[in-house]
Amino acid sequence: MRDTSQPRIDTIINALLAPAGAPGVYARTELFERAIEGLMQMITRNREPAAEVFTFPPVMSRGLLETAGYLKSFPHLLGCVSCLRGDEGSIRKAVEKEDWVEGLGATDLVLTPAACYPIYPLVAARGAVANDGQTFDVSSYCFRRETTHEAGRLQSFRMRENVCVGTPQAALSFRDRWIARAETIAKQLGLRYQIAPASDPFFGRVGKMMALSQVEQALKFEMLIPVRSEEEPTACMSFNYHQNHFSEIWNLRTKDGNLAHTTCVAFGLERLALALFATHGLDVPRWPSAARQILAM
Ligand code: 5GP
Ligand code: ZN
Repeated sequence: MRDTSQPRIDTIINALLAPAGAPGVYARTELFERAIEGLMQMITRNREPAAEVFTFPPVMSRGLLETAGYLKSFPHLLGCVSCLRGDEGSIRKAVEKEDWVEGLGATDLVLTPAACYPIYPLVAARGAVANDGQTFDVSSYCFRRETTHEAGRLQSFRMRENVCVGTPQAALSFRDRWIARAETIAKQLGLRYQIAPASDPFFGRVGKMMALSQVEQALKFEMLIPVRSEEEPTACMSFNYHQNHFSEIWNLRTKDGNLAHTTCVAFGLERLALALFATHGLDVPRWPSAARQILAM
């Protein structure tokens, strides 16, 4: 049942986000950004001491994402940066046409679809990592060409990820530690949640089988929190064990010479912020004091 003491999600979105002319693309208000800022600080306090920090831009190398196999798994979600090329004359001619977009050509850049993609080649280029694992705290604006635009599904959103590259044991225990930490965080913030097995939205018929196998092998879990409704809670975090998928691609090895395994733990910042307002309402002074304190709001 929905908590009827709180406004509906469309009222919350109208108060916190301003439409920016395309579905799933919004301007963020100051209040919304204060919640995001609080969440980011809280994630920083929770990261492991040795974590190395990188902030990635919202674009990445197309070649690196191709090598990562993204086109096999999620071609339907990818956005590629296209530009007009040529000399002044040909560019002017292109933009004067009504269908000027036909003059566009793909560049060597794509829009980053998840914050962790750029980290694996970066680590691989440095050589082997310690057996007990190396950890990273990465963030990026992400883009996914989503076809539905229900509340909480954005085309452009921020993702913060904690990543481990190490032995299978190191990678898995990192994921377990983060699931425990995420539960503590959700409780402290007063959020109702469940941790559920999940799968990625792999493309096509083969993709359906990949998704089934991902669930069977317990490779992905999500933290679901009511945002739109209690009955259909929203994935606000994910806990992903890639086994040696990325290590095979990038030849990521541990010092013992074996292929590394990797895990990533992703926080969807806009969804977490919406979950806070959906749960506690728009009147921040009336939020539970523990949540306000943690978020410095
Ligand atoms: P994943 O890589 O597991 O699909 O996504 C990681 C996290 O990013 C999700 O748990 C979610 O919080 C956030 N996320 C994924 N897709 C979207 C989206 O379409 N809109 C928003 N706002 N967040 C998303
Ligand atoms: Zn990831």
